[in-house]
Amino acid sequence: MLLLPKVKELRSYLASQRQGRQIGLVPTMGALHQGHISLIKRAIAENDLVVVSIFVNPLQFNPQEDLQAYPRQLDRDYQQCQKLGVQVVFAPTKEEIGVNGDTESQATTTTVVPPVTMTSVLCGKFRPGHFTGVATIVTKLLNIVQPDRAYFGEKDAQQLAIIRRLVTDLNLPVEIVGCPIVRENSGLALSSRNQYLTEVEKQQATIIRRSLQQVEREFKAGIKDTNTLIELAQTQLATVPAVKVQYVELVDPQTLEHIEKIEQTGLMAIAAYVNSTRLIDNILLHQRQPIVAIDGPAGAGKSTVTRQVARKLGLLYLDTGAMYRAVTWLVMESGIAVDDEKAIASLMEGVKIDLVPPNAASLPPFVYLNGQEVTQVIRTPEVTANVSTIAAIGAVREQLVKQQQRYGEKGGIIAEGRDIGTNVFPDAELKIFLTASVQERARRRWQDLQNQGREDIDLEQLARDIQKRDEQDSNRPIAPLKKAEDAIAIVTDDLSIEEVTNQIIALYTSVR
Ligand code: AMP
Repeated sequence: MLLLPKVKELRSYLASQRQGRQIGLVPTMGALHQGHISLIKRAIAENDLVVVSIFVNPLQFNPQEDLQAYPRQLDRDYQQCQKLGVQVVFAPTKEEIGVNGDTESQATTTTVVPPVTMTSVLCGKFRPGHFTGVATIVTKLLNIVQPDRAYFGEKDAQQLAIIRRLVTDLNLPVEIVGCPIVRENSGLALSSRNQYLTEVEKQQATIIRRSLQQVEREFKAGIKDTNTLIELAQTQLATVPAVKVQYVELVDPQTLEHIEKIEQTGLMAIAAYVNSTRLIDNILLHQRQPIVAIDGPAGAGKSTVTRQVARKLGLLYLDTGAMYRAVTWLVMESGIAVDDEKAIASLMEGVKIDLVPPNAASLPPFVYLNGQEVTQVIRTPEVTANVSTIAAIGAVREQLVKQQQRYGEKGGIIAEGRDIGTNVFPDAELKIFLTASVQERARRRWQDLQNQGREDIDLEQLARDIQKRDEQDSNRPIAPLKKAEDAIAIVTDDLSIEEVTNQIIALYTSVR
């Protein structure tokens, strides 16, 4: 890993490395914790070269704030980045990057001013100049590094919305990637400032997250009115007087404008002091139909049950297997070798898959690939033989998971697989982990094979094969089989398809 404090060195290094390689940037102020690390890991997974910048930006602090006291632990940060596999840490001085922070130099240099509608609300109301400081430094970093993607945490939801707007308005050629909030087990959102808190204060601070969760429950129970939801949060927060609320607001997550009522999506954000430490947190409230995620090992009856539940509840069966098959078919049609990851990654850039519900219950959905119907051709033995190789390619998964999540925005879908509840739809309203003992799954498979006239199959051998496959599925690095903590396990050994289907329908009715 390189430590580059100079803009010139960084630029010339990147110029020598750039040819055809994707560059990811993770801007930070250092004192790295698991929140930052989640951004870095994602950047590493999605790019060929990752730059982490560490710069405590004086423009983001106003005179009453904790610029001098802000935690600085460069050595530790460097080591963490190195361990993670970051290629470059860019840690400039104030002079090097041309940001001093004193009034005189600010009056004589260019600053980037985001729309006042976005900076005069939420934290902006209490931190004058903060987002101008953020926008200025982020623009500089984007210009210096010229990354393909830049990573920001959803914890700073206002910052993320402002940066997305800045990139659109200034036509900057970069994709902004928002990453989910990382929390302590207690629910407290990780922050470099948490190290100022005592254990007791940390415990008190968990009321922020708990209030947001309470609001989410009420929202899901049907309350959409902003004032009612804000009052609810405030009542909850008031139960811990040590937590002094600065604001509770509900806004449009993109424009940050106040909304009276949640039509589709709302962002509730809270800022509060615990002693002299200022903490923020937020939650996105979506108005959508429920999503049902069904995971489990091979042979537990997932696809049959999923199809039945989809039909009975009128949900779209998001056949993720068909999506992977469609890509496999396209790779084979294009004459690309199934292990040519680079060519497949670039082929993925233009791929769009549509699933259209079938008109007969027993049929899978119609599958369209870039507008062409491929429902039948993706089910040949040749496609079957290659689909798991293709599904293990990072770029394929990444693109298809994005498309699947887009289907999830409106909800009203059911999907089955191995990581639907943990990775594709971690916020699904209903998560089922469908399983059966190895012996029972072997017996079912054996029965199927007998029905097909295969009488030479050894039941014990089948059981050993299933056991081995379970282990492989659970331990593979990409999309391992794992029960989500909040999934409901259904063991199907002694249940008919009908009984399993009815159990799931009853559970669905209870979350609606
Ligand atoms: P900072 O060093 O505080 O400027 O944060 C650098 C980046 O890490 C920002 O994009 C933050 O939104 C992000 N970040 C900070 N805390 C968290 C967290 N708990 N979860 C996810 N991202 C975070």
